[in-house]
Amino acid sequence: MNIHEYQAKAVLKKFGVPVSGGGVAFSAQEARSAAQELGGPLWVVKTQIHAGGRGKGKFKELDKSAQGGVRLAHSVDEVESHAQEMLGKTLVTHQTGPAGKEVKRLYIEDGTDIADELYLSILVDRETSQVAFVASTEGGMDIEAVAADTPEKIITFSVDPAIGFMPLHGRKLAKALGLYGDLAKQISKIGAALYKAFTTKDMSLLEINPLVVTKDNQLRCLDAKVGFDSNALYRHPDIMELRDLDEEDPAEVQASKFDLSYVKLDGSIGCMVNGAGLAMATMDIIKLYGEEPANFLDVGGGATKEKVTEAFKIILSDPNVKGILVNIFGGIMRCDVIAEGVVAAAKEMDIKVPLVVRLEGTNVEKGKEILSQSGLAIIPADNLADAAQKIVTAVKEAA
Ligand code: GDP
Ligand code: MG
Repeated sequence: MNIHEYQAKAVLKKFGVPVSGGGVAFSAQEARSAAQELGGPLWVVKTQIHAGGRGKGKFKELDKSAQGGVRLAHSVDEVESHAQEMLGKTLVTHQTGPAGKEVKRLYIEDGTDIADELYLSILVDRETSQVAFVASTEGGMDIEAVAADTPEKIITFSVDPAIGFMPLHGRKLAKALGLYGDLAKQISKIGAALYKAFTTKDMSLLEINPLVVTKDNQLRCLDAKVGFDSNALYRHPDIMELRDLDEEDPAEVQASKFDLSYVKLDGSIGCMVNGAGLAMATMDIIKLYGEEPANFLDVGGGATKEKVTEAFKIILSDPNVKGILVNIFGGIMRCDVIAEGVVAAAKEMDIKVPLVVRLEGTNVEKGKEILSQSGLAIIPADNLADAAQKIVTAVKEAA
């Protein structure tokens, strides 16, 4: 799960990480009040979306020459007019994709006089099973571009979680970022605080770009991108509260409410399967026969009528879906119960695309009988290959 920059900064601040003062705003009026409270003389008006590259982003509705999604302002009036212009508009950055993201929140921040911009991130390194630090003197820009053009300017090292962040790691950071004297002391402290925040809150990514040196020689985190391990969120109700459903795919949000594991993909064949392994095998075999799956969907062990109905709704909400393949193994659930669920859901949903159903397992004959007597145009299949061929053929014929 990801959170907004202003939320990430509030979390980091509690761990003693230096960030600028600021306030969130949902309207131009709130932006004005936040700016007044901060006092100036320099403010930054920052769009809050779950994507980076905002500064260089472009608004769909505005002229190409208009400023991006991170703007400096020198008066309260200017803060308000930037807010007015940006709220409700669609910001397109290299991370949002061409559709962009609607700006619903702004962060009004105390402006910093920048002497230098650096890069620092922490992530879980699966290869070494350790916590990796990535540091570069080339901050403020796209780190992927730095990695491609000047990889020698990116320094990485790992911290063993059994040992933790040691003074040695602080010195490594200072060296990697070219910091000396008091700034070296500051980065040691910040590194330790960031590490503590990362491990305590079960983060999967913590990226500070840029980490800046101010004109009065202080280090400060000017941007913060934080992602959390979803499997650990139950331990952090305070973090869970920061979830912004506006930033997530609506179909995936809906699926999670019904305990369905759903991931939208770009193909044309909707898949409804029980079990993650079977779901992956189903996607593979659809590809083998020349079409692409529209989604990954695991309805789980208890494929009840309610769950199956919801799964159909979610699949059909995707306009790319030209056919549906239901592939369910009746192990704990009996095939006749599943068949009744599929029939009831299909009747309720009035499905207009071809529907192939393959059932296997306990009471499979009874299940097939229910499908054939349902009066619905369900195409029955006997095995996985048969099912995949049938749905691919049906979709091609319908096209
Ligand atoms: P991003 O474009 O989404 O990564 O947003 P950032 O928060 O990183 O801001 C983009 C750029 O705006 C930074 O790299 C800085 O150059 C600039 N910026 C952000 N905050 C300030 C600030 O307080 N003062 C100044 N002078 N520039 C800032
Ligand atoms: Mg940034």
